[in-house]
Amino acid sequence: MIKLETKSVVLLHHHLKALRLPTIGAECEKVAKQAAADNADHLAYLLQLSELELLERERKAAERRLKAARFPTLKSLDSFDFAARPSVNKVMMAELERCEFIDRRENVLFVGNPGTGKTHLAISLAAAACAKGYRTRFIRVTELVTALIEARDERGLHGLKTRLAKLDLLVLDELGYVPASKIGAELLFDVISTAYERTSLVVTTNLPFESWTEVLGSERLTGATLDRLTHRCQIIETKGESYRLQDAKARVRRGKASGSDGGQDGASRPLEGGTAKG
Ligand code: ADP
Ligand code: MG
Repeated sequence: MIKLETKSVVLLHHHLKALRLPTIGAECEKVAKQAAADNADHLAYLLQLSELELLERERKAAERRLKAARFPTLKSLDSFDFAARPSVNKVMMAELERCEFIDRRENVLFVGNPGTGKTHLAISLAAAACAKGYRTRFIRVTELVTALIEARDERGLHGLKTRLAKLDLLVLDELGYVPASKIGAELLFDVISTAYERTSLVVTTNLPFESWTEVLGSERLTGATLDRLTHRCQIIETKGESYRLQDAKARVRRGKASGSDGGQDGASRPLEGGTAKG
């Protein structure tokens, strides 16, 4: 009897492996003991096992999506200090975080000076998308342009473009920091125009629209790129100076204030809301 049971368990594990149900394989005996103790019926037992398998699959898929997104660091809206950046509307960002713009194939453009939180906001949205199951990729524009040019040299352009076309959301970070070559600009334009109404783009740039021609080289290309990018697009300006600069200045101010009245201020505290009076 015992022998037979052992044999069926071995066979069961073999079948579960062939069926690619590793979590059920790992949990079935433990859950069976518990089910017997709880007097649970067969269907309840099967339900519990399939739920465990599903949960584990979802967890692994989320892990893979996050890895594939290649975020340089993880950021979230929770750690964004909205008081320090009044031009960014918290309610609107929370709405974007729900990712309905991705279902509508709309774009989001963050425009502002370096250090004003554009990348932070872009990653926050993309990480939320990733968690919700959207296929997401973060890439710096210079990196993308290099990859496109290299792929073109190796005739791998089609493959690269196919991979990009499978995405639900593509983050193009730092558009315009380095003027792209003519061919680079054309390849980039091609990615943007292919994404149009198929893949949502989140773009960060420190370029005011007037200077886009300089970067993309030609008036025609710039016009067409801007047209596609900004059609059905939320434009969010991160107005003001660099967050770290603001933070450093606030610390200096607090340092001075505490120096004059002899008090001790926590210099490591993050920037407080509002501006210092003195
Ligand atoms: P940008 O992309 O506009 O150059 P970043 O998003 O890279 O700026 O911001 C620079 C650094 O400052 C990052 O570490 C970012 O997390 C932080 N930062 C910027 N703005 C804020 C903010 N309002 N609240 C919290 N951290 C911020
Ligand atoms: Mg940035």
